[in-house]
Amino acid sequence: MNLILLGAPGAGKGTQAEVICDKLQIPAISTGNIIREALKNGTELGQKAKSYMDAGSLVPDEVVIAIIKERLAQEDCKNGFILDGFPRTVPQAEALDAMGVVIHKVLDIEVPDETIQKRLSGRRVCESCGASYHVDFKPSSKGEMCDKCGGKLVIRKDDQPETVKERLKVYHESTEPLCDYYRKAGKLTVIEGQEEVAQTSALVLKALEA
Ligand code: AMP
Repeated sequence: MNLILLGAPGAGKGTQAEVICDKLQIPAISTGNIIREALKNGTELGQKAKSYMDAGSLVPDEVVIAIIKERLAQEDCKNGFILDGFPRTVPQAEALDAMGVVIHKVLDIEVPDETIQKRLSGRRVCESCGASYHVDFKPSSKGEMCDKCGGKLVIRKDDQPETVKERLKVYHESTEPLCDYYRKAGKLTVIEGQEEVAQTSALVLKALEA
């Protein structure tokens, strides 16, 4: 099954992508994680993306489209995949269609902006493996270290309050129109993000069975 997770930054797409990945044994692909990895490794892609990412803006379409094209061509995507954070604009969705990629379902996780702001201020990510935590809602049992790999947990630069405001603005302007795009294609399911992560996961898994 080829899936897309839509939703504002901090809506919990990454966490739900992991849940689906475990359940269906298909890879979860986050363009944000790919770009952060490139940044860490000092590649040309990382250099190109840095200023956009730091400002909370979108990286240009042609850059992320090239990333996703290369990633989806890999062997592990043959039996399906979950896209987390791609597409984020209508031209990106059109590019997927033009590549001949068939999308079976699009899940839009809806969470109010105020909740997002609270969530992102407490978010911590592992600088080694990218796993995501929250100081109140999903703490690591190892404190400042990642449960999965022991890496250091850090605050993402773009989770600073001013940058979050900008990211939400960009989301409403550029990404929200994708809901209509996929609704018209008959592929969209809207999921109300719940306070408890497990409750949202239950709704997500139910939507996949429908
Ligand atoms: P994320 O981890 O998905 O919140 O992505 C972090 C940042 O990476 C975003 O704020 C953008 O600057 C950039 N990014 C990730 N995915 C995309 C995309 N599909 N289109 C444009 N920029 C992206």
